[in-house]
Amino acid sequence: MKITHTKESRIKNVDFDNLSFGEIFTDHMFVCDYKDGVWNTPEIMPYQPIQMDPSSSVFHYGQAVFEGMKAYKDESNEVWLFRPDQNFERINKSSERLSMPTFPKELFFNGLEKLLSLDKEWIKKGTGNSLYIRPFVFASQAGVQASASNAYKFMIICSPVSSYYSSSEVHVQVAEKYSRAASGGVGFAKAAGNYAAQFYPTSLALKEGFQQIIWTDANTHEYLEEAGTMNIFFRINDTLVTTPTSDRILDGITRKSILRLSEHLGIKTDVRPITIHELLSAKKDGSLKEIFGAGTAVVVSPIKGFGYQNERYVLEDIEDSFAQKLKNHMVAIQTNAAEDPFGWRYPVNTTDSVSL
Ligand SMILES: *Cc1c(COP(=O)(O)O)cnc(C)c1O
Repeated sequence: MKITHTKESRIKNVDFDNLSFGEIFTDHMFVCDYKDGVWNTPEIMPYQPIQMDPSSSVFHYGQAVFEGMKAYKDESNEVWLFRPDQNFERINKSSERLSMPTFPKELFFNGLEKLLSLDKEWIKKGTGNSLYIRPFVFASQAGVQASASNAYKFMIICSPVSSYYSSSEVHVQVAEKYSRAASGGVGFAKAAGNYAAQFYPTSLALKEGFQQIIWTDANTHEYLEEAGTMNIFFRINDTLVTTPTSDRILDGITRKSILRLSEHLGIKTDVRPITIHELLSAKKDGSLKEIFGAGTAVVVSPIKGFGYQNERYVLEDIEDSFAQKLKNHMVAIQTNAAEDPFGWRYPVNTTDSVSL
């Protein structure tokens, strides 16, 4: 791997106490090109703009996928990833669906660890701090033929984040018209275009005073499937309910970890389809205790209320919240502050001196 160090780190210009999500990037980036059927030798270089032909396939047909993962620093400055093997497998699954070449495991992990070694000063310890890691792949071949590209770029960029504790409550609108994913489509993949298609319906929901949308199935708009870009959980009495994965559901690493952790903590889980009708009757009879979203960026995001057919429903405050309990436990595992009986934490070797 070719490594070019930045001449001067930009870290001194960064106000780590006032970070907004995903706006500032670290000193280096990882790049690997695919041409003539092979991935070439990867490179780490100073973070910088890349040059692209205007006819590049990605601009026209959106052939692109991505991942989102985080690195954490514990109290003794050790760096940890959380289940990175899962992100690795998923980006290749996404790539396959978009007819893109899979990326080799060794290149992924070597590149990631070298990049984190170089930019480890950007990972701050302390509650809520982490480094958001964004691996992505896109079609870079020049030419507007509507077919799978022959050239791709795999890149990894990193952005320091601090968890942003919003004091405002999250209210979500249940989708009655728009859909995020359809059967046979690409909803299970982290395909770039899935997100582009969400912006417009989400902007309409924002105008009506909601922060996010609960996506429903495209056929009937009855089954509750995801919350914005997160998986969704409902606490009915003392059971956590979440929908099964399918080709419409993103198989979230936070989701599956929460299911496993709940089992371990003695919280009952039920993986089954759940409809808006069941939600409404559970709200009515008082058995609906909590709703929350789950994803890497926030781990767990409590949802205070929802809107459906011009009615608004607000959940009562709850002591002994599962959302809070699960979030605290997940973060403790991620940051090496709690036992990890599942083997989820992955130590990053940052001492293996990346020579100048
Ligand atoms: C990324 C993502 C999630 C959450 O996945 P994690 O692996 O937990 O971060 C859920 N839903 C959608 C649509 C996503 O893109």
